[in-house]
Parts: sequence; C-alpha cells; structure tokens
Amino acid sequence: MSLPKLKIVFNYRSPFCALVIDELFALQRRYRVDVEWVIVKDVPRPSSLPITEQNPRFPYNREDCERRARWRGIDWAPPKWRLTDVVAATHIGVWLLRNKPELFEAYTLRISRAYWSYGKNISDAAVVEELARETGVSDADTAAAKAAIPAAEIELADNAKWCEANGVLGVPFFIVDGLKFWGSDRVGDLKRYLSDAAYGPALAPVDSGILFNDATPVTLPVAGRETSVAVNRIFCVGRNYSEHAREMGFDPTREAPFFFMKPADALVRSGASISYPLATSRYEYEMELVVVLGQSVTNTTPEQAMKAVFGYAAGLDMTRRDLQLAAREKGRPWELGKAFENSAVVGPIKPVEDLAENPGGQIVLHVNGKVKQDAKVADMIWSVPEIIANLSQFYTLRPGDVIFTGTPAGVGPVVAGDKLHGEIADVGEVAAVIVPRLEEQALAAAKAKAENADWAGVLR
Ligand code: MN
Repeated sequence: MSLPKLKIVFNYRSPFCALVIDELFALQRRYRVDVEWVIVKDVPRPSSLPITEQNPRFPYNREDCERRARWRGIDWAPPKWRLTDVVAATHIGVWLLRNKPELFEAYTLRISRAYWSYGKNISDAAVVEELARETGVSDADTAAAKAAIPAAEIELADNAKWCEANGVLGVPFFIVDGLKFWGSDRVGDLKRYLSDAAYGPALAPVDSGILFNDATPVTLPVAGRETSVAVNRIFCVGRNYSEHAREMGFDPTREAPFFFMKPADALVRSGASISYPLATSRYEYEMELVVVLGQSVTNTTPEQAMKAVFGYAAGLDMTRRDLQLAAREKGRPWELGKAFENSAVVGPIKPVEDLAENPGGQIVLHVNGKVKQDAKVADMIWSVPEIIANLSQFYTLRPGDVIFTGTPAGVGPVVAGDKLHGEIADVGEVAAVIVPRLEEQALAAAKAKAENADWAGVLR
C-alpha cells in the first residue's frame, strides 16, 4: 500500500522555513505520510505578489519574523547584510536528499538556522562546507555533491516549474490530498489535518513488535537554548483566581485546588494557526502561567516543591465552554470541554536558572490588540509550590509534566480570524491565530451524503 504523499516546498534561505524546520522533520516521523521535499532556490515570494484572498500573507518583514521567532523560542539574529544566493547550501542539500537521506535532516536543520539565528554567511561555499562537516557530511560527500551540480540544477529547474504550475505562493508550502497550506504558521493545521486524516502515527520499525508506535515526543522549545523538553502529561488547575471563580459563578473561598488533564498531544506551539474546533459554538481562551517540571516528586511539601520546577511558560488553556458547562451541570467529567486537539497552546520555556525570582508579575491577554485579561500571577489563590505539593499527593510527578495554573478573570469567546497574544512578565509570550475549520466543507459534504443515504433507505 502506498502512503499518502505530503509535498513540502522548502528553501534554505527562507526565514519562514527556518522558523518551523524542526517541526517539519517531526511531522515526517510522526505521521504515516511519504514526505517529498521540493527544494527550491527561488520561488515566487509573498513580497513579489499582490496581496489577495488567495495570497493573504504579509510580505516578509524583519519585525514579523523576529516576533514569530520569539513566540517559538528561537534565537533569531540575522546579520545586517542580506543573502543574495544560497547556491552551495542548496546543491549539497539536493545531493544529500538523493544520496545520503540519513544526513539530510541534521544538515538541513543546521543550514537553515545558520543564517537566521547565528548570522553565518550561507552564500559562502566554504562556510557551508564547514557546517556540512559539522553535521557528519564527509569531504568525499561534499566533493560528490559538487560533481553532481549539473544534475542538481536540472532538479531545481524542474522544481521551479512545478511550483509555478501548482500555484506555490511562497515557502514553506505544503500540499497533501490536493489541500494547500502555506506559511510557517500553518504547521499546526497541517498536523491537525494529518492526524484527522488517520495518517498517523507512523508505523514502528517492523522488528520492534510495537504497532502505531509514535517515537516522536511532543516537545516544547527552551527559550535561548537549542534544546527542547519532551512533554509528558498536562495537568490543569481549575478556578485559581478569585475574580475568575466569581465570573464562573462560584464563591472563591479557599477550598482545596482541583485538577483536570489534557493529553500531551493536545499541545501546540506558540505561533500556530488553530482551526476552530469541532462540536462547539463557544470556544474560549484562558491565559495561564504554565509550570514545567524537571524532577520527580511524590508527596512533597510546598517548601520542597520548587526543586522540581524546571521552568515556566505562557500558555492558553483553550476551552469548549459550552461542552464544559454542560458536563459541569450534569456532574460529568470535563474532557469534552478541555481535552481536545490543539487545546493547549504553549510558548517557549523560560528555565528557572534564567529568572531572578519566581514569576509574580503581570499576566495579560490581548485579542486582536484589545486587552481581555489583565491580572497579577501573585494573585493566584494557590501558589505554584502549593499546587505542586497538592498534586504530588495524588501523582508521582515526573520530568516533562506540565501544569497550567489557572486563568484570571476576563475569559471569553473567539471566532475564526481572531489573533491571540499573551504575555507574562519575566516569563514570555504565547500567540495563536484562530482559522476556519479545515473540515467545514468536508462536513457539509458528509451531511449531504448522509441525507441522501437516509432518503435512499426510505425509497428502498
Ligand atoms: Mn484553565
């Protein structure tokens, strides 16, 4: 059986490709798709096209890229000069893809961040060869790639023609099942489509004996580092700010904290586009301080609990409020309201060692530039050490466990097109854009089909 094909149009000098390159390789491992990389030197760029509905993206600008990099915790320091070409980088990439695919990932990750994060001149062949060497490409491979330049040029020309014929508007650009996704902020949607389309998880190697083994952990980047954290479980605290407890119809007396959970794969990185979720007409934001644990603890005390904290992040506990309230009224579990795809948006993790003191400052959420939530982390009913101590009475907490600590007052609904941006003093930012459901058309088609099927039954 042949796997569905995902084409990824990629350019080594693109800032938008550099922003998501690690996630693209994770997708390749995570889902049962046959990824075809379409490497280009030049494609029509957003900045060279008129802005229309089909071409909605803003042209490249430095501030936009810097902001997106910050949302995702990527070091971003392009030098003042502009790249003119990346011929050597591209030729070696094309050769590796065809001849040493096992080296393609490490090489491509390194090259595409080299310019944007570390100011390396990747138009310079000598610089590229050194970077290639650092990622395990031997001098013999580099020589072979140089000898194969005519073939690489033919492939690049074919790719350019293919892009033109297929309306590729810029990079990164993805095509799967005839659906097109364009831009660094569409990786969340692409992931969502692949998982909805029952393509994932990737099949394990045959000899492992484990079916549907997803070897790629869900990860969050660590701010200012080239590392990321593998996320284990996501715990969430309910009603932890007095004003929010009141707005939800409760008396904020200091009853013991209570918890609910989300699956780790509900997590989506800051900066993503998120499809309006299924089965709700009241999709709401909750801006929260997120705690990431770096040590195991059981039955700990508030005094000891802070040892387990690896770092903090800004997060959005996205909620299907209508389903949550319906469950609450009936005394049923909250999963339908809280634990669903892309419901935990989290920014880069700020390690404790980078903080002068524990977070206690302003926590703010903007929707389309307007302030919706504005409070102080210090106003939480249960503090971070108290939350960890309490939770550790029930669970052996482990490194990679993540805790959403509750939201302040001001929660409210979002619709497709809304832009969310949150910030927590000293901790960092989180951002997301809500986009229309991918499956809206598919649902309509399925409904029409079901109605026809009903009639067919009656007529028979
Ligand atoms: Mn919450």
